[in-house]
Amino acid sequence: MPIRILADEVASQIAAGEVVERPASVVKELVENALDAGAAQITVQVAEAGRRLVEVSDDGQGIPAGEVEMAVARHATSKLNSAEDLFHIQTLGFRGEALASIASVARFTLISRAREAEVGARLRVEGGRAGPVEPVGVPVGTVVRVEELFYNVPARLKFLKRDLTERQQIDGLVTRYALAYPLVRFHLFQDGRPVLQTTGRGDRREVLAGLYGIEIARQMLEVSFEDDYIHVTGFISPVSLTRSNRKEITFFVNGRWVQDSALSAALLQAYHTLLMVGRFPLAALFIELSPEEVDVNVHPAKAEVRFRNPDKVFSGVQRAVRRALLAYSPVPGVVGGTWQNRLPGQQQVDPAWEMPRAVAGQRPLTWDSLAQEAGGDQAGEADDFPGAEPGEGPGPAPAASPEQAGLPSGMLPLLRLIGQVGLAYLVAEGPDGLYLIDQHAAHERVLFERFMKQRGEPIPAQALLEPVTIHLPPAAASLLLSQLPVLDRLGFQVEPFGPNTFRVRAIPALLTGADPQAAVRVVVEDFEEDEAPLQSEIEARLIARICKRAAVKAGQTLSTEEQRALLRDLETCRSPRTCPHGRPTMIHLSVDLLERQFGRKGVR
Ligand code: ADP
Ligand code: MG
Repeated sequence: MPIRILADEVASQIAAGEVVERPASVVKELVENALDAGAAQITVQVAEAGRRLVEVSDDGQGIPAGEVEMAVARHATSKLNSAEDLFHIQTLGFRGEALASIASVARFTLISRAREAEVGARLRVEGGRAGPVEPVGVPVGTVVRVEELFYNVPARLKFLKRDLTERQQIDGLVTRYALAYPLVRFHLFQDGRPVLQTTGRGDRREVLAGLYGIEIARQMLEVSFEDDYIHVTGFISPVSLTRSNRKEITFFVNGRWVQDSALSAALLQAYHTLLMVGRFPLAALFIELSPEEVDVNVHPAKAEVRFRNPDKVFSGVQRAVRRALLAYSPVPGVVGGTWQNRLPGQQQVDPAWEMPRAVAGQRPLTWDSLAQEAGGDQAGEADDFPGAEPGEGPGPAPAASPEQAGLPSGMLPLLRLIGQVGLAYLVAEGPDGLYLIDQHAAHERVLFERFMKQRGEPIPAQALLEPVTIHLPPAAASLLLSQLPVLDRLGFQVEPFGPNTFRVRAIPALLTGADPQAAVRVVVEDFEEDEAPLQSEIEARLIARICKRAAVKAGQTLSTEEQRALLRDLETCRSPRTCPHGRPTMIHLSVDLLERQFGRKGVR
């Protein structure tokens, strides 16, 4: 083919690919525009996960009728004159591309009235072709309606994830902006259902409660740090409150949401050795520094920035986080042989959920060691923290490696119970040596297989004497709503009871005695739906979570009878050697290994 200049329409659609990846990207650009326009109130309406409609209205300064047509042209912006301006930019937008891009891949309507104007103006654009500008009577502000996203680029539609995922992306995005801009009132509706409403009173902790629920919001530690160079504010979780992924780590830099792995690394390093391997804090940190220190023009969706002095930024973040962690130094205590942290005057997160698992080579966490690492400086002024990865520190030497490789797969041989050690492990003897069994992991496995076997028949439920009400963060609420039938089959009777609120009437009989609110939370919170695309897989993972909750914990004394029963149950399991999450339930020390270790047999 000869070289040709692409038709405008095609060029716009290609450019749109960079900015408009999914409905949440549309929401992001429109919300940013509303913030740039100085809105005090922003309302986001979404229908069918944004495929049918995304509409963002604001009460900002509006667009003069004469400029409405320009607003949807490519490279048209009121926020920038020269490339120089980029380094003084105070607005979120500057590329002048968003509206043009969105309008080229959807049925697009812009309605706006500038503050000084008598009437407003309306402009429709379909597939990049603009109609006439018509006068309309509307209040001051702007409404952008985006219908049937990607109707003219069906290939892109195929890349969208399931509705639940797309909705969660939008919920997550709007809640984060609400947190970053607590003085703006945000309203988010999905299919007419209110998902998020903030008051605009400027109280971030209040917004946090909407995001994570009141209990978690109360536990989050406040960060407030300032020096000549950087200002870091926001919230981080105490070490007792963690997640299995980094998704709840959010950074805003000069009011801009950025995904920056180096910033996350700085945060994690500040928690260094305080978290178990594979656990991550929750954090929402807002970094302010001079605009000249930040290059914002490095990413089409403006999701990344470049720092002129990255080291100064990272050390500022670390100091801010360390200081917050130290200021709330919990009293260390040994409970049931495991470390437990207590925040003075604060309600305890159920420690059993977060019970540290024995990790070979992991240094036990103490607040003394933390203070030492911080240079003994209680004010947290220590500049550099040892950059070791968790688990790298000098700790107990890893135990003699279990002869995992030599284990026959499948069922267990009959085991003779010897007893319980460390309130966490069962010791048993089999025909081929010694077995150390993690009581929690083993019980999880037993419960999991029992649940899976019962699948299809109704699983026994335990009705609560009094139904309890539970308020969930938006993402967890959407998941719960979409999985109600599954939860019902599993013995949870839960019904919607207002926005993001549910009533729990019964829980699985297996969980009898558990706190019903905590039981529901543990099932749906922090659930990475993306990783389990199949419904059957989601179900299995929900079951695994219930089992984790119901299983006996490390630190729990078991009677000899209970220990024996656990062994018998484990022997009947089809996959007794791992827990439902894939971790080992046992370490096997074979007779052969013992003989070699004691020098009775030559080392081969
Ligand atoms: P950018 O935000 O990079 O300038 P956009 O394509 O997002 O580019 O918007 C183009 C222009 O339209 C903006 O510069 C602004 O002048 C105007 N505009 C867009 N949305 C709004 C809004 N909600 N309120 C007021 N003006 C707006
Ligand atoms: Mg913009």
